[in-house]
Amino acid sequence: MALLQISEPGQTPDPHQRRVAVGIDLGTTHSLVASVRHGVPECLPDEQGRVILPSVVRYLPPGSGSGRSIGWEALAAQVDDPHNTISSVKRLMGRKLADLQAQGVAAKLPYTVVDGPGMAAVRTVAGDKSPVEVSAEILATLRFRAEDSFDNDLFGAVITVPAYFDDAQRQATKDAAQMAGLEVLRLINEPTAAAIAYGLDQGSEGVYAVYDLGGGTFDVSILRLTQGVFEVLATGGDSALGGDDYDRALADWLLQQAGYSRKAGELPAGERARLQAEARRVKEALSAHADDGVAVRFEVELDGKALVRDVTHAEFAQACAELTQRTMAAVKRVLRDARLDKSEVKGVVMVGGSTRMPVVRQAVGEFFGQPPLTNLNPDEVVALGAAIQANQLAGNNPEGDLLLLDVIPLSLGIETMGGLVERIVPRNTTIPTALAQDFTTFKDGQTALALHVLQGERDLVADCRSLARFELRGIPPMPAGAARIRVTFTIDADGLLTVGAKEQGSGVEAQIVVKPSYGLSDEQIAAMLQDSFATAQQDMAARALVEARVEAERMLDATRSALAADADLLEPAQRAEIDRLISATEAIRASSSDAAEIEAATEALAKGTEPFAALRMNRGIARALAGQNVENF
Ligand code: ADP
Ligand code: MG
Repeated sequence: MALLQISEPGQTPDPHQRRVAVGIDLGTTHSLVASVRHGVPECLPDEQGRVILPSVVRYLPPGSGSGRSIGWEALAAQVDDPHNTISSVKRLMGRKLADLQAQGVAAKLPYTVVDGPGMAAVRTVAGDKSPVEVSAEILATLRFRAEDSFDNDLFGAVITVPAYFDDAQRQATKDAAQMAGLEVLRLINEPTAAAIAYGLDQGSEGVYAVYDLGGGTFDVSILRLTQGVFEVLATGGDSALGGDDYDRALADWLLQQAGYSRKAGELPAGERARLQAEARRVKEALSAHADDGVAVRFEVELDGKALVRDVTHAEFAQACAELTQRTMAAVKRVLRDARLDKSEVKGVVMVGGSTRMPVVRQAVGEFFGQPPLTNLNPDEVVALGAAIQANQLAGNNPEGDLLLLDVIPLSLGIETMGGLVERIVPRNTTIPTALAQDFTTFKDGQTALALHVLQGERDLVADCRSLARFELRGIPPMPAGAARIRVTFTIDADGLLTVGAKEQGSGVEAQIVVKPSYGLSDEQIAAMLQDSFATAQQDMAARALVEARVEAERMLDATRSALAADADLLEPAQRAEIDRLISATEAIRASSSDAAEIEAATEALAKGTEPFAALRMNRGIARALAGQNVENF
């Protein structure tokens, strides 16, 4: 039992002397810092309210002011001073000049890469700069930002690195952090951070994919979650494929449409830059309007003439279809490396600004047969996950202080056949979280499903608290059990629950928003828990009974509909026997409260109808051979 602390009058101590820990996404093109405040991870903005810091450092000639500029200011100077403005330094971390030359990286960078101590370096007016030093400038900028916003020193930081970073690259990242005055609590993999941001580590064990399409790179990782810990099973991707290529593809397509024989890459640098910037604007504007009918105007001056065209979603999709296909080919390769089938992947996390494109989301969703997770900002998701991890490592998290809303107090689930509750989110799950489970239809041709959302620990609907009801309509008629309906429970950081249901084949969906903890006092919650422990035994028996009844009903239904279709196949004696079994099962189902007895009757009915099932199957085959459509049966 906890001791109560009493403070002296007038000396209210800070209720929880928190250690300020941050998560840092040290990215190729941009970096972010995030922290958990009041139980919620959030990215910290600069003075102008921008959370993104371009990963760019410009070195000035010796004797000029502070000697360097960092972030937006440096980025703006890149065009005018490309040799001293270092971007994409992450590609150089822990790498020797020879490696970079062999990979063709060095030649593509606008600045001069030379040999340096331990790894390559960049030649600037201010001397040769190590990638560690350049990264340290970026990290220090983020550290100051965090210290200013908390008005406190930092306890430490979790920094993210690509899953494929080797030891040298990881060590270089740590060195940079140390140089920036940061205590590294841990380096974690970017895909893992993204998965943590989605709360997947709190959810069900299994395999997850992380699809990260940024500005210039594409990374895909397969993670396995076991006992709350992620393991990287395989990584892949394409280090020369990203959003910039989509800009180029759209620009090329527009040139071609307008009758130009040249591609964007063959134009003078200034025109090319304007063309691609406009293509990027159009691309981003299109994803802001998911509506298929929308067109965005592309307008640029070329050879003294205006090139104007309204671009639709379909045209954009066509212009860059090949790029999206290339990412999907890499996804297939990485699954093969991990020796997994796509159906074994439980969830797909989307990371990187380019995953805002509807064409990308659609391709990923179609491939995996499930909608990818996209509700967090794809630019921020890695930093947010790192912040959650940092908060835990700093010891701020353990139950109790301030995080009352951080776990859900009672399990959440939905009603299934027979008045039973299927639990989807177990109590004490930390939020935000999203968990899903698949359900199916009970009757042949069932086109609607009633969903009843419940809260509580008991097995029977009658003993739980009803939160909401809604319906999923428009399910295409199918035999019982053939529809696959995914029910997803999403709880945001405020404890707001959204329940969605989607039939996977047709894509029909419905959802409802519920406030789960609304109206329940702590005493009520305690009472419901007490109840569930005391009655667990009784509930198990009740559940078994209901399940037996449901199974009997299902068997009876199936037998009746088979008789309605093909009773003419049966001899009178066979028919009489089946009728007898039906009445016996009906009677026991209605009167007995012994699950085993009902199961036995159901079993007898199943056995007794086996010869009939065989006759029906033969008829089905004969019909199919006669050229009939099997679906007509
Ligand atoms: P990186 O991880 O390489 O630093 P980001 O994750 O920041 O890159 O992604 C940058 C890319 O995201 C750019 O190509 C940009 O055009 C693209 N992007 C940003 N917002 C959108 C949007 N709304 N629609 C399409 N692409 C976008
Ligand atoms: Mg990125």
